[in-house]
Amino acid sequence: MSRPKTILILKPRGFCAGVVRAVDAVESALRKFGPPIYVLKEIVHNRTVISSLEERGAIFVPDLQRVPPGARVFFSAHGVAPQMWTEARARGLQVIDATCPLVNKVHNEAQEYTRQGYSLVIIGHRHHDEIVGLLGEVPAGTPVVETLDQVDELEVEDPARVAYLTQTTLSLDETSAIIQRLRERFPLVKAPKAQDICYATQNRQTALKRIAPRADLVLVVGSENSSNSLRLVEVAANAGAPAYRIDDADAIVPAWLDGVGTVGLTAGASAPESLVQEVVAALAARFGFEHIEEAEGIDEHVRFILPEAVLAG
Ligand code: SF4
Repeated sequence: MSRPKTILILKPRGFCAGVVRAVDAVESALRKFGPPIYVLKEIVHNRTVISSLEERGAIFVPDLQRVPPGARVFFSAHGVAPQMWTEARARGLQVIDATCPLVNKVHNEAQEYTRQGYSLVIIGHRHHDEIVGLLGEVPAGTPVVETLDQVDELEVEDPARVAYLTQTTLSLDETSAIIQRLRERFPLVKAPKAQDICYATQNRQTALKRIAPRADLVLVVGSENSSNSLRLVEVAANAGAPAYRIDDADAIVPAWLDGVGTVGLTAGASAPESLVQEVVAALAARFGFEHIEEAEGIDEHVRFILPEAVLAG
């Protein structure tokens, strides 16, 4: 008897505590103050989340110049450079800060190392919003590396006073290789007090590595600009499972499912559960996946309190 076609849904998946906090904060602000509520850049990197907030009166802007003087504006979960705070104050804006506390931790470390005169190396993607914000905390010209070759090319003022920080949403494996190379080049390099790659990124990657050997195909729900979703695709591929990122169920390409008995399904930290369930329904209705199984995984209990400005009262 042939085995039923199976969807193996990963746990944990989808929204992390930082994204829950950021989205809840904008929703609370819309209820408490009424629209419009301005948001600098995407509050989290997911088109479905953004559209839903736009429908309720949030206005997303690429820069502060588009926010009328005195209006309320959110800073996103990815954090901003200190210059943004200065600009917002100069324009009399009422800032509500939805920066994830785990991103703030990296900003604080950057300030501390800079104060102590270390040459900093940032491991991450230069154009990601999180790194753009972090670069505002450190001297101009601070290097951002994402490959071993870039580590080999580094030139620092004093090799005995080098420290590194990392973006919160990287691949653990790639980052470990880069850190190893940094240690070879600068044996005294200082590491962050605690790992910067956040718990949510780690848990989603660990869960995926565990089930990848059972999956003929892995689908990752997440937007194109979601760093942690892109890393999940790489993690699956490195573990030997063909993997694709999809925005939603409509993005599934039928040919991917040819001969596939088990699909592993996960979602990046900014992808809502509703999109995961739509993919499950589409796999069942369009491709005959009849057995749905939730993989054993880590229970997450991390919660962040909302920014004070949006708390009721
Ligand atoms: S992925 Fe991690 S660092 Fe980024 S918002 Fe979520 S909890 Fe915060």
